[in-house]
Formats: sequence, C-alpha cells, structure tokens
Amino acid sequence: MARTQTHELSTLYTAYRGIMKDTYIHKGKRKKLLETLQQKGISDLKVLQAMNVVPRHWFMDSSFLDHAYTDKAFPIAADQTISQPYTVAHQTALLACFSGAKVLEIGTGSGYQSAVLVALGVELYTIERQNELFKKTSLFLPKMGFRPKKMIFGDGYKGFPEKAPYDGIIVTAGAPFVPKALLEQLAVGARLVIPIGEGTQIMTVFKRVSASKFEKMEYGECRFVPLLAQKN
Ligand code: SAH
Repeated sequence: MARTQTHELSTLYTAYRGIMKDTYIHKGKRKKLLETLQQKGISDLKVLQAMNVVPRHWFMDSSFLDHAYTDKAFPIAADQTISQPYTVAHQTALLACFSGAKVLEIGTGSGYQSAVLVALGVELYTIERQNELFKKTSLFLPKMGFRPKKMIFGDGYKGFPEKAPYDGIIVTAGAPFVPKALLEQLAVGARLVIPIGEGTQIMTVFKRVSASKFEKMEYGECRFVPLLAQKN
C-alpha cells in the first residue's frame, strides 16, 4: 500500500515536471503582466521583482494555462481560486515586509501568493483549511523551489500561536470580521492585511502600534472567496 502510494506520487511528479518549464514566451508574458500592474499603480519594486521570478503558470490547472499571465483570478481545486496578480501585488506591498521577516499567511490555496512571499525572502508560515489543496500544494511548492518554513493544515481563524509574534500576517480569503487571534499574534510595528466583509470586502490593514493599540487603514473594495471556520 505504502509502496503504491509512493509510486503514484512519483509518477504524478514526473508528469508535473513535464509542464514545469519556464520558457522565454512565459517570461515575456510575465514581463507584460508586470508592466500592467505598474500601470495600475503597483510601484514597490521588490514586490514586482519577486513576482517576476515566480512562474504563475505552474500554479494553474491545465485548462487555464493560457490565462496565467492575464490579470485575473482563476479557479483551482476544491472550488477555490488563485488570486488576481494585482491583488497579490497589492496585498504583498501593504504587508511592507523586509527580507528575513517572519510572516504568517492564511489561505495557502494554490501556493502562488506563498511563493511570491518566499521569493521576497520572508520566513513563511502558511495555513490551509482544505485538505485536498493542502496535500497538493505542500507536495508541489517545495518541488518548485519555493520553501515555506512550515505549511500547516488547520483553521486560520486561530492563527499559529506556536511561532507568534509575526512581523506580518496576510489573509487571502474574505473574513466576515477580524479574527482576534490574528491581532494578538502581530508583533508591535507589524501589519495584518485582511479583506473584511461578506460578499464583497474592503481591503483593510491593522498596524499594531503598541501592545494594546492598533491603527486601521482601508484600501477599497475587493472580492475574495470566504474565510471559512474549521478544517475540511
Ligand atoms: N493565496 C491563494 C488564494 C487562495 S483562495 C492563492 O494565491 O492561490 C483562499 C484560500 O483560503 C482557499 O484555499 C481556502 O480554502 C482558504 N481558506 C478559507 N478559509 C480558511 C481558514 N479558516 N483557514 C485557512 N485557510 C482558509
């Protein structure tokens, strides 16, 4: 049984490696996409550089490969989505994290946002509640060369207190309210970047200015899949 499983995984991996190419055509399309993001107001060069080294087409289902470098969200497994590149760039810039910072991500999903954070040089902890996605992404992301410090199967509403406090926390699903645990796990000076609302959300940043004080900033409307309670 164990042997069959190992065999299946290695077959899957070999098949996957077949499409894990990053040709000059992909690189050209990626450059164009980054120019579009700059035109839409993304000016953080470190974020743009990180996105330039992550081949987004590696994170998409085969039926959407042609769309990997359009500025749109697309379906992945388990009724979830890979975030729109603009959103990834915007959230990453709002996080304002330095290389070596300890960051917690809620909603690993395809692992695309995780890879961008790893490419930025952060020490990443990332949580996914959906088992199918967790298994798939925790297998492939390290194989692609983007290694989070730890990938956790769990409920992001609770954060990951074992490694708190964090220099930044990013939530990539729409939260009906701000989870208290996430505010508690922020270091002083750090930011929580979280879309808040049901249906549509407001991109919101909470900056911890002291042990008991938070500054709240809002950055306009956005639309995410919902942050759901408990593992599945
Ligand atoms: N960053 C991802 C976005 C995926 S969509 C990407 O770029 O692909 C949001 C993800 O959040 C989904 O995978 C969903 O399963 C996950 N999610 C929703 N509620 C969650 C929770 N409470 N804890 C952890 N992950 C959650």
